[in-house]
Amino acid sequence: MPGSIVVTLLGTGTPQPDIERFGSATLVQAGGLNLLFDAGRGASLRLTQVGTRLGAIDAVFLTHFHSDHTAGLADVYSSGYIPGPFGRRETALPIYGPEGVEELTEGLMMAFRGDLRERAIKAIPEQSTRLVPHQIEEGIVFEVNGVKVSAFGTFHHEFAQTYGYRIDYAGRSVVLSGDTAADPRVADAAVGCDVLVHEVAAIHESMADNDFFKNVVMKGHTSPEEAAAIFQKTRPKLAVFTHIVQLPGGQVGPSVESILERARAHFEGDIIAGTDLMVLRLGEDGVEVSPRAAVAKALA
Ligand SMILES: [Zn+2]
Ligand SMILES: [Zn+2]
Repeated sequence: MPGSIVVTLLGTGTPQPDIERFGSATLVQAGGLNLLFDAGRGASLRLTQVGTRLGAIDAVFLTHFHSDHTAGLADVYSSGYIPGPFGRRETALPIYGPEGVEELTEGLMMAFRGDLRERAIKAIPEQSTRLVPHQIEEGIVFEVNGVKVSAFGTFHHEFAQTYGYRIDYAGRSVVLSGDTAADPRVADAAVGCDVLVHEVAAIHESMADNDFFKNVVMKGHTSPEEAAAIFQKTRPKLAVFTHIVQLPGGQVGPSVESILERARAHFEGDIIAGTDLMVLRLGEDGVEVSPRAAVAKALA
């Protein structure tokens, strides 16, 4: 759709292996580009489910290096250069990320040298096997076909450099918080945006005083009430929770419904909980939500 941004939540989960919620990954399509934000566990499976060829990803943007945001990159990369209908990459793949991104790209290319030796390498264009690191700082990091991607700093842990991203195209905008504690910089970046996709974390009430959950995990994440305060400040047309951390008491964490209820008590605008394969279309008529993308579309 010309003039629109299509956001597909590929993975809305956490490090917890979960067949329903894959690792963090979001596909943003605008201006004829396929941009992948984080590539957690299963990103290649979800991309294939929504009919996006792995080789058709134009760039990957990483918020930080936690494995739940990067574990799927090896597969997107190494299956992307296979000349099957799911891959067929023709060019090098740019990877944007914080300081350390070069370590990641070099390490991945090294890890798959054996793969390349064992394949009929002549059938694979050499440049398609390359990852090109781009170390980012705050500000505009990418501008192609009228699609502008800006990075902003967030606070996840004191020893990690983490970023969120804002994508602007044709007067529409989406902001992805990445993993972060409640941070005013997210609110600043999200002012006037159409959709704010924000992480959230909550502790089961029976464990409310658990020292590790309260003083370690929650220090790097955002509670439903804190997220609501950010939504209140920025007033997006739609707020969407992703990376839903449900810290358990026994085997069960707080329900997604209870997390939504807590947030809705402090923000009267629209908040929904993202699910894998949910599609958000930002177009002339505002934001249209489809709960699940049409799966297993034929790959052209
Ligand atoms: Zn993280
Ligand atoms: Zn994470």
